[in-house]
Amino acid sequence: MRITVLGKSPSWQDAGGACSGYLVEEGETRVLVDCGSGVFAQLRSVCDYVDVDAVLVSHMHGDHFLDLVPFACALLYAPRQQPVPVAGWPGTDTPSRPQLLVPPGAIAALRTIGAAGGQPRLFDRAFRLREYAVDETVVLGALHVRFAPVPHYIATNAIELRPGEDGARFTYGADHRPNEEIVAFAACTGLLMLEATLPRPEREGPRGHLTPSEAGEHAAASGAARLVLTHISDELDQEWALAEAARAYSGPIEIARQGAVYTV
Ligand SMILES: [Zn+2]
Ligand SMILES: [Zn+2]
Repeated sequence: MRITVLGKSPSWQDAGGACSGYLVEEGETRVLVDCGSGVFAQLRSVCDYVDVDAVLVSHMHGDHFLDLVPFACALLYAPRQQPVPVAGWPGTDTPSRPQLLVPPGAIAALRTIGAAGGQPRLFDRAFRLREYAVDETVVLGALHVRFAPVPHYIATNAIELRPGEDGARFTYGADHRPNEEIVAFAACTGLLMLEATLPRPEREGPRGHLTPSEAGEHAAASGAARLVLTHISDELDQEWALAEAARAYSGPIEIARQGAVYTV
């Protein structure tokens, strides 16, 4: 299983960067995990978007889904997707229509966003859209997918992908405050990708994110073989973040870099 970082920025992009988006490939199966601002252009730089089998969305914050808008527009309006020959493309009776799996309740939000642009069914038309159940196992070609609700400002799900029922696991925490759920869900995973958004814990209001040291503590508690810190701004010192995470976690740690490829 191959994981390519398309974007790792938090809710504001790094210079030249994109928000959350990770392309997971196993054999011929291609799954995009989250599609935040800037991700669609990065996706195009590493693969052909019509070859994406499915998109999984962890939660409905803009840095995790907003580039579904250009992705939908490409699927509906690109010359190659049309039924008749146009602009040198031969026309197709079978335009690409990837699955789009979103959290419970998200379809209403997507239709509201579509309606604001005059197209309430934008995402229904472009994708095979459905809401996943958090307790289901979804089989997408060669990949098996599981979810686990994690505490954040809105309903959010960590996502696990593995080749088949017994393959090595990739666990993506999405966004969350410190919690036990991700530790249990990621127990002994092959690669754990955790957010490390904050230079220090939130000083007021409910917590929503982790610091790098908290990410290290969660990785250590889960027994993960490897930790990648993500959802981290280029305005945070990377050496500092690595050292903070390494205080609790003794395994290999990297900071996600746009274009990085991990094999699990
Ligand atoms: Zn986020
Ligand atoms: Zn979020």
